[in-house]
Amino acid sequence: EGSDSLNFIEQIISEDLKSGMDKNVLRFRFPPEPNGYLHIGHAASICLNFGLGEDYQSPVNLRFDDTNPSKEEQEFVDSIKSDIEWLGFEWAKECYTSDYFQELYDWAVELIKKGKAYIDGQSPELIAEQKGTPTEPGKPSPHRDRPVEENLDLFEKMKNGEFEAGSYVLRAKIDMASPNMLMRDPLMYRIINKAHHRTGTDWCIYPMYDWAHGQSDYIEQVSHSLCTLEFKSHRELYDWFLDQIYDENKLRPKQREFARRNLSYTVMSKRKLLELVQSKTVAGWDDPRMPTISGLRRRGYTPESIRKFSEISGISKRDSVTDVSLLEYAIREDLNKKATRAMAVLDPVKLVITNYPEGKTEMLEAENNPEMENSGVHEVPFSRELYIEKDDFKEEAGNKYFRLTLGKEVRLKNAYIIKGESVDKDENGNITTIYCTADLDSRSGSGTEASMRKVKGTLHWVSIEHAVKAEVREYDRLFLDEAPDAHGEKSFMEFINPDSLKITKEAYLEPFLASSSMDDKFQFQRVGYFTLDKDSSKDHLIFNKTVGLKDSWAK
Ligand code: ATP
Ligand code: MG
Ligand code: MG
Repeated sequence: EGSDSLNFIEQIISEDLKSGMDKNVLRFRFPPEPNGYLHIGHAASICLNFGLGEDYQSPVNLRFDDTNPSKEEQEFVDSIKSDIEWLGFEWAKECYTSDYFQELYDWAVELIKKGKAYIDGQSPELIAEQKGTPTEPGKPSPHRDRPVEENLDLFEKMKNGEFEAGSYVLRAKIDMASPNMLMRDPLMYRIINKAHHRTGTDWCIYPMYDWAHGQSDYIEQVSHSLCTLEFKSHRELYDWFLDQIYDENKLRPKQREFARRNLSYTVMSKRKLLELVQSKTVAGWDDPRMPTISGLRRRGYTPESIRKFSEISGISKRDSVTDVSLLEYAIREDLNKKATRAMAVLDPVKLVITNYPEGKTEMLEAENNPEMENSGVHEVPFSRELYIEKDDFKEEAGNKYFRLTLGKEVRLKNAYIIKGESVDKDENGNITTIYCTADLDSRSGSGTEASMRKVKGTLHWVSIEHAVKAEVREYDRLFLDEAPDAHGEKSFMEFINPDSLKITKEAYLEPFLASSSMDDKFQFQRVGYFTLDKDSSKDHLIFNKTVGLKDSWAK
């Protein structure tokens, strides 16, 4: 790779290597908090960290940042692991911040002994008030100069569960006048009387993010700890904490920041996604409308498309919003190459070919994928009575209408050229049956002169007798607004698209589709890309629409 194609994080690493850092000490980590499912924003961080691991042949740890038992669960740990695996990445070690609780505690005791940390017994409100403002120095806590022995005693009692939640905290003793508010004696530990999904009730004091994160990086000897921009101001504290415990013979991690990935027409914080789940606005974390990895997977996205999307949307220094149509572009490109072509009629009307023998079935050949070499063919049954899309017929239409009308010809895909002859209607004037004649010499691929005949318009169809019924779920954007969570007081919940899910109970598919499996990807010709839903069964087929054939959104 040429250095001009390096993103700015790769440039930082490349500089480090040039100035003498040993390539063998490079190590990265992806540090999710197991308090929700991974989303497409996390995929940016996953692709960045694991991508660096692949580029430099360096280990990448998966570290669960599990320091808050009130929000974390095993279910989330499991889903995070399976999502990363599905994306195609392998971690070197599976780590948990909770594995370091004892070590973190011991270091905290050392800080107390060095006079660099103290126990504060004031209320959280008072502590916050005393922090001051960015332009005015804060007020020192009256407990700031508590004697070391007393601090040690109180800290031990905190740990032993002798105090109520909120009664005491451990604070680092740094600088109450620092222009960086985070340096004004930040909290290191608080009491949370809740069982932890891994450590059970062993602990009732839990480390704060800033105290835990850098030390975990240090324990794992992570060389570059990459996080999102909102942590930029935390870097000073990250370094201060490392200064207190750092051994010169060991590698000293450094924190570097990159911009969060935001996507238009969606929200992307786990808290907000949880709200969508809990309010039953969606059917769960893996609802195909969710920007979660599991939702995208269920919708029919491939790992390759998500990795490709990460590559083209890139890593940036400044916050920006990526248009969701770029994600749709990535999956459409991938599926165009991979998806098996098939026919499905979503809104059927009956069509009878009057000059085709009753009771006859012909097996026609359909190419699986014209974009793929040697993709093979599959058989499609043809007979006298078919379904086509209602939309594909008008009794009369202008010259620009290339579908079926009375008196004009179109080709049935993989089959014959037909001409519209007459219709039956019900008492409301709705067309119930279309009668056609076929040019029986014109079968596709038969080699006859008539088979080469060019007519404007090709329609998809299914044979009524052979078709299988399926439910089809089509999705639209979950939000009507481009930036649903950028409306100040107004909640993102007010911008929900009420028509984001359209269910067709009776779509008709060519029989070949009945035996598909979850990993199969299809293009329903002229309709879009589809995949089986996880709730699908042999008796009740359910297909999800992944994306349309064209970008129908850009208007
Ligand atoms: P959320 O606000 O969605 O809960 P988070 O940052 O709290 O996100 P974590 O589980 O702590 O979620 O994130 C794990 C890693 O993924 C962190 O390094 C974080 O910076 C990164 N990450 C999270 N969201 C994004 C995003 N939108 N774009 C890029 N990286 C992200
Ligand atoms: Mg979070
Ligand atoms: Mg976080």
